[in-house]
Amino acid sequence: MPLTVSRRLQRVESSPTLALAAKAKALAKAGKAVVDFTAGEPDFPTPSAAKQAGIRAIESNKTRYTAVEGIPELRQAIADRTNRQCGTKFEAANVLVSCGAKHSLYNVFQALCEPGDEVLIISPYWVSYPPMAWLAGATPVIVESTEQDGFQPDVDALRSRITSRTRGIVLNSPSNPTGAVISAERLRAIAKLASERGLFVISDEIYADLVYAPAQATSILQVQPDSVDRTILVNGVSKSYSMTGWRIGYAVGPKEAIEAMARVQSHSTSNPTTISQYAALEALTGSQEPVAEMRRHFQRRRDLIVTGLNHLDPLRCFKADGAFYAWCDVRGTGLGSEVVAARWLDESLIATVPGDGFGAPGWIRLSFATSDETIQEGLSRIQRWLGGLKAGK
Ligand code: PMP
Ligand code: GLU
Repeated sequence: MPLTVSRRLQRVESSPTLALAAKAKALAKAGKAVVDFTAGEPDFPTPSAAKQAGIRAIESNKTRYTAVEGIPELRQAIADRTNRQCGTKFEAANVLVSCGAKHSLYNVFQALCEPGDEVLIISPYWVSYPPMAWLAGATPVIVESTEQDGFQPDVDALRSRITSRTRGIVLNSPSNPTGAVISAERLRAIAKLASERGLFVISDEIYADLVYAPAQATSILQVQPDSVDRTILVNGVSKSYSMTGWRIGYAVGPKEAIEAMARVQSHSTSNPTTISQYAALEALTGSQEPVAEMRRHFQRRRDLIVTGLNHLDPLRCFKADGAFYAWCDVRGTGLGSEVVAARWLDESLIATVPGDGFGAPGWIRLSFATSDETIQEGLSRIQRWLGGLKAGK
């Protein structure tokens, strides 16, 4: 008898961001001059102090299992950092360290959702939220945000989609893919709504350190202290410290939820990699200058790519306040975003991610976690391609 894949997996496709990044890398390896805008990760090396802490961990034989939840000093450091940023009073017991923020999010969905529950997700959304809901037996309910509203969550629209089955809402600020930073005012309104309707809030703040002045990152926990009882904050070291390969993320929230998530983790991965935990501890508690430096580079690149794309009629690019993605409206070309992205790759070796996987056809995501030269070269190729399109080629 042929093997059949479980029904809950049949609707889940592989992450399109990871698949497209892998395709671009494979083309480059095959000697093609690809201009790669797919990267969902900073292009800088991991800061030296964190690397050294990892090496020290290996050499001092910190190479065995740790507690499932993570080493106590890392959990404490995460609680302290969250308390400093959000004015909260978390303890180490409020923290679960996992194998990347993606794993933290997966644990939250598994721990909080019942089959049949509905979870509100704001589009454009990061590609993995709906599959994570499905894999937990829940149904993602997509609520659109618009460019006219700066991709801010529409609180009335969220309210109108709440049913007796709605259990929670996912926030992602700064957003992947738009780079929008949710305003304190909207966060306050969402916190109020969640409290009135008894919803949990998953607040994915993985890009919170990558916000470009004068914009400011605000956490729902800062603006509405009583949301602490219903919020799971998710963060990690992947983006802020250029440590994507180390696989360390974390969740901070009410102890019952954290304990439930730890139970899931105890039967799946056990502790996150021991060596990586020591490196993450150094990243979070050591000098923060490498983060500030990366932020300066990203801000310059953001200005370069957003201004550049906006000069290329008929493209229009949203100005991201955070993260490292340029979110570009390609509808003016008269072609679908998957067609444009495929043609850019085939005809001009420009690798991007079409908005379709983010629930936003018509748009394309270009990561600016790449060099200024790559950005310039990409802009020139897009300009030439658009010239060809206008000439009817
Ligand atoms: N959330 C968002 C919005 C992301 O873009 C990413 C990047 N993959 C993650 C979570 C997960 O990051 P990681 O698992 O590398 O910590
Ligand atoms: N978050 C990154 C991205 O959106 C990494 C890829 C992924 O984890 O899906 O490209």
